[in-house]
Amino acid sequence: MSARMVLLGPPGAGKGTQAERICAALNIPAISTGDIFRSNVAGGTELGLKAKEYMDKGEYVPDSVTNAMVADRISQPDCVEGFLLDGYPRTEAQVHELDRMLEERGLGLDAVVEITADSDVVVERLLNRAQEQGRADDTEPVIRRRLEVYAEQTEPLAAMYRERDLLLQVDGIGEINDVTERIMSVLRDALNAH
Ligand code: AMP
Repeated sequence: MSARMVLLGPPGAGKGTQAERICAALNIPAISTGDIFRSNVAGGTELGLKAKEYMDKGEYVPDSVTNAMVADRISQPDCVEGFLLDGYPRTEAQVHELDRMLEERGLGLDAVVEITADSDVVVERLLNRAQEQGRADDTEPVIRRRLEVYAEQTEPLAAMYRERDLLLQVDGIGEINDVTERIMSVLRDALNAH
C-alpha cells in the first residue's frame, strides 16, 4: 500500500504535530518545507538566505526555490513507499508542479488531508507558540499576513483536490490525540479503498 499524501491547513492548525504522528503510524517520512527552510536559515546556506527574506515577512518563498527543493527531497530513497508533504503545495502552480514531479516518476497522490480550524483559534495558538518556541515569523503582524496569504493562495487548493476525490477534511479543534484519531480513521478508509 503506497501512501503519498499532502497535508493542508492554515498556520497554527497543528499540521506539524499531526504530520509526525501520521508518519510514525504509517512508517513514512514527513516532509515539511517550512522545517527544511528553517534548518537552511539556521545553517546559513544559500537556500536559507534566499528563503529568509520571504519567511520573515510571512510571504511565500518563490516557486523556483521551493519546487526544486521538494523534487530533490521526494527523490530520496526513504520516500519510495510514500511520504506526507506538510506545507507543500501551497499555490495552484505548486499543485501542477507536484503533479508533474509525480507523473514523471509514474506515481500519483493517494490522499489530501485538510485540517480545519477557525482563525481566532489559530491566532491564539500561534501567539502561544511564539512564546514557547520564539519562531521568527510568529509575531502578530506576520501571523496575520501568513493567514491572509493562506486564505488567498492555499485555501483554494482544497477545492481542487475535492474535485479529484482526494480531499479528506478533519476538524483540527480539540485534544491532539483526538485529532490524530480522526485523521487516522479517515486516512485508513481512504488508503484501503485505493
Ligand atoms: P510553515 O512552517 O509551513 O508554516 O512555513 C513557514 C514559512 O516557510 C512560510 O510562511 C513560507 O514563507 C515558507 N514556506 C513553507 N512552505 C512553502 C511553500 N510550499 N511555498 C512557499 N513558501 C513556503
